[in-house]
Amino acid sequence: MGTTEDNRGISRRNFVGGALVAGTAMVAAGLTGCGSPRNSGDSSDAPTAASSVDWTQEADIVVVGCGASGTMAALSAAENGASVIVLESSPAMGGSGILCSGAILGAGTKMQKENGIEDCPEALAEDVRSFVEGMFGPGEFERMGDDWELMELHASEAANTVDWLADHGVQFYGPSQQPGQPVARLHMLHPNAAAWPPVIKPLVEDAGVDIKFQTKAAELILEGDRVVGVKTIDQMTQEEHCYKGNKGVIMATGSIEGSKDWRQKIYTLEQANVQCANSFNDGSGIRMMCKIGGDTTEYTAGAAMPMLYCDDPAPHVGWYTALMSGGAIMVDPSGKRFISENAPEMEMLLAIDALPERKAFALYDETIAQLPSVSVDKVETIPGFGYASIREFEERGGIFTGNTIEEVAEKAGVDAAGLAAEVARYNELAASGTDADFGRQTLGSGLLTPPYRILGPAKAQVISGAFGMRVTNKHEVKDTFGNIIPGLYAVGEGAHGLAKDYSTGTGGKMSWAFTSGRLAGAHVASL
Ligand SMILES: Cc1cc2nc3c(=O)[nH]c(=O)nc-3n(C[C@H](O)[C@H](O)[C@H](O)COP(=O)(O)OP(=O)(O)OC[C@H]3O[C@@H](n4cnc5c(N)ncnc54)[C@H](O)[C@@H]3O)c2cc1C
Repeated sequence: MGTTEDNRGISRRNFVGGALVAGTAMVAAGLTGCGSPRNSGDSSDAPTAASSVDWTQEADIVVVGCGASGTMAALSAAENGASVIVLESSPAMGGSGILCSGAILGAGTKMQKENGIEDCPEALAEDVRSFVEGMFGPGEFERMGDDWELMELHASEAANTVDWLADHGVQFYGPSQQPGQPVARLHMLHPNAAAWPPVIKPLVEDAGVDIKFQTKAAELILEGDRVVGVKTIDQMTQEEHCYKGNKGVIMATGSIEGSKDWRQKIYTLEQANVQCANSFNDGSGIRMMCKIGGDTTEYTAGAAMPMLYCDDPAPHVGWYTALMSGGAIMVDPSGKRFISENAPEMEMLLAIDALPERKAFALYDETIAQLPSVSVDKVETIPGFGYASIREFEERGGIFTGNTIEEVAEKAGVDAAGLAAEVARYNELAASGTDADFGRQTLGSGLLTPPYRILGPAKAQVISGAFGMRVTNKHEVKDTFGNIIPGLYAVGEGAHGLAKDYSTGTGGKMSWAFTSGRLAGAHVASL
């Protein structure tokens, strides 16, 4: 690979290097066995050599991470004849892949054809190209370099992935069209994102894949320059084990979204404090790969940024502006307002995160519900529906409704007396035209007309990764000099960044996770 001990760990971005040294030291400090002299902590920065470990178990392939990409890598590798061990730090299959909206992008799928939708991978690639050019100018493709090749691979294989999942019994709604896309391309996991593990897990197990839950990967093990295995820590017993992957190790550990330390490098302390939807994706996988010289991509747009987010079945994105501009109020679980509703979304989500229960609710009335921003304009997105107006979410039961403030409060789990008192106060303020409590500039006409609605709970959450490793179109991880690190592959959020985030709209991350896992599993199995 052309990488030497001397150049390992040198990153072209200092912040990555700094974080990786700190993170590596933390990881190595907990190690106690596995036959390695390094485990006693004598040289925590040095990679572990295969000659110094006793292997616990071996297979053709070791997959690290049993989320969206890792599970598909394991299934596809096993179906292509490889023996596979999967290491997963959490107790269950799914990762962020079961927390998401469940939208999978695909152009040219069987489902589209069955629904009379004409589409093809080339059209998707072309749409992404126009999208990127519109946003960043024509030179962007040259700058993206191999990341653009990955995007083309993604566009060309996404439909095959959706068909492959459907052939394995995964069910989808749709396809559904989102704003900005010329045709319906979103394949929505049915009935929600958590639907795929119950279908896929038995198949993976039947294919002989050995999944080790609550087993956290701590370090990659090298034989010369080649990655040959993974050192792990059992999350229950703290025992250490070493697993050998004779054909390779596929890293499917997400990005750094669950690492507060890492998020602090990008955001303020307050923003970094926001909880991550999936704290298991703590950046340990990225750190392990950086430690042996792997190179990372740039931060992606909106990288690991906190968002104001509602759990299903409420709309996820876009509702805050739509409702607040119409005069809705935000209250905490005791029914009290806590900030001006004119606050920018980031300020609002930080204020919510500072509340004792870290959640809040939006209250609005019939007058607001009839505004075009609520009854007509589309917001994002829930399984089965893609983009829809807030009014549609109401009709489908995603929003609490009541003829009195007390009734709607009780349904939503907000203190009824507290909310009634706050609404009475707010209506007085609205009538006076001055928000003496929080300085809101546009108060609206108050909350006077039943039925009343409550949307929530709304929480501040980090839901996406920030960057991944640089990989080839065979998912081989590159080092900081552009050379391939033999035996090491990366998929999902932890592999490339721009490629998936440049896909137009939602669903690109999941289709990249499933697609990169499927392709990498088949490729490594074929070696
Ligand atoms: C709330 C939410 C909403 C989202 N909405 C969308 C959407 O609308 N559209 C879209 O396309 N994408 C969406 N996403 C993103 C999408 O879910 C992810 O991009 C996708 O799941 C990434 O797959 P992955 O395999 O890389 O990571 P994951 O599915 O998270 O899997 C990573 C796995 O690795 C495990 N792991 C991490 N470190 C280690 C370690 N050291 N050892 C062992 N195991 C480890 C984790 O426990 C986890 O199970 C959303 C995500 C969230 C959280």
